[in-house]
Amino acid sequence: MIPLQVLPDRRLDEWVDPFRSGPLRGVSLETVQVNIGLRCNLACHHCHVESGPSRTEEMSWETMRAVLRTIETIQPRTLDITGGAPEMHPRFREFVREAKSLGVRVIVRTNLTILLQDRYADCNCLPSCYSEVDVSRSIEVPTRWD
Ligand code: SF4
Repeated sequence: MIPLQVLPDRRLDEWVDPFRSGPLRGVSLETVQVNIGLRCNLACHHCHVESGPSRTEEMSWETMRAVLRTIETIQPRTLDITGGAPEMHPRFREFVREAKSLGVRVIVRTNLTILLQDRYADCNCLPSCYSEVDVSRSIEVPTRWD
């Protein structure tokens, strides 16, 4: 265990102070991050989950519904959706819409290039899905393609 006094950030030390007399406990849960699948239109060398076009693993709708029920219960501030390319999950839009209806802020980690593919660009459906429900996008641009 690292003694708190060696941590450079004094604010952390101050934050932990009230809990020193007992075990640490969670105060609140701000963000729920879910990886809904490993399929991706790209196959970047640096991808830490080794996503790519040949990956087929994806979160079941049953699990997605369990995530939504959990969000309804614990009411985090943010739902952070990642993959793979999350847009390639067949229930992606439904998941985003249902999450937004629960009042949670939704962030989608997108590589944006997926929107250049006809199937996913479909008449601005994805951008309109994003704008209709006010979804933030965290754009993850590969630094290298080879
Ligand atoms: S775009 Fe992102 S998820 Fe897809 S292969 Fe590259 S790093 Fe992985």
